[in-house]
Amino acid sequence: MIDFKALAKKHESKLKNIKVACFDLDGILTDAKVHYDGEEVGFNRSFCVYDGYGMKLLMNAGLKVGVITGGNSVSVQKRTEQLGLDFCYMGNEDKVGAFKDVMQKYNVKADEILYMGDELFDIPLLKASGFSATVPSAGPEVLEMVDYITSRKSGEGCAREVIDMLRYAQNIHPVLEDIKL
Ligand SMILES: [Mg+2]
Repeated sequence: MIDFKALAKKHESKLKNIKVACFDLDGILTDAKVHYDGEEVGFNRSFCVYDGYGMKLLMNAGLKVGVITGGNSVSVQKRTEQLGLDFCYMGNEDKVGAFKDVMQKYNVKADEILYMGDELFDIPLLKASGFSATVPSAGPEVLEMVDYITSRKSGEGCAREVIDMLRYAQNIHPVLEDIKL
């Protein structure tokens, strides 16, 4: 079992400054697989509801949450709309440009952004961000430079794992009312 309280404590100095949580799509919010259905609408993807709810919890707490992905398809658009994410940069080869745009849009410094990504082209963003995380299947160069490598795999709640660490570090807990019997 993951000890979220201990992880939050260990990374507290970085996590407490985070105001924006930014996620790569393929290999982070998805299992890195794309499904071609024969239609001319791009590739379909599967998403994990644990990640989606975690993103909503952060937004409810006032953090800005979004996606920067080189991928582009109707399924990505639908999912990000459904979650009501604050931002979604899709089909964008220039991830650094999107990252800078996020900084400007929300008036935050790079060290106030949490970034999670798994590919070599994510490295500049991972390096710049205040807290960086990846999955165990990321490339070696990524694995050796991030702040945290998740226990969970791509598309199986890996983002939620990082979100829950962040929640514990910032004391973000949803209020759950008891059922009156
Ligand atoms: Mg990726």
